Amino acid sequence: MPPYVLPDKCDGCKNEADPWCVAVCPGNLFMIDPVTSKALCRDPGECWDCMTCTIFCPRQAIVTQVQYQLAPIPAELIPRLGKRHITWTLIDCKGRIYRLENMILAGEGEEED
Ligand code: SF4
Ligand code: SF4
Repeated sequence: MPPYVLPDKCDGCKNEADPWCVAVCPGNLFMIDPVTSKALCRDPGECWDCMTCTIFCPRQAIVTQVQYQLAPIPAELIPRLGKRHITWTLIDCKGRIYRLENMILAGEGEEED
């Protein structure tokens, strides 16, 4: 399911010329709505749920709704990006909350903690 932008959290990347979600989407699907100054996915049908926009948004304003049987709507999977890891919060269809913090991000030349 395409990402959903939470209007209360999105600040349009403070009018930066290249907002994160616009810059990182491999399908060039994100844009800033000129009326609201918030981000939106211009063509949800073209989104392939790679979650890159969700991960990179600095304000955790993009929510991915997991569509599989394990966690159907209204379940949510919310990433929070740290320097070395991502914290994933999964809220399942019964409202139970799970947190996972073991995905290490290590780019070229970086040392792990
Ligand atoms: S990266 Fe996040 S805060 Fe920035 S414009 Fe996109 S949704 Fe809004
Ligand atoms: S999930 Fe991937 S393809 Fe879909 S809008 Fe976000 S970055 Fe683009």
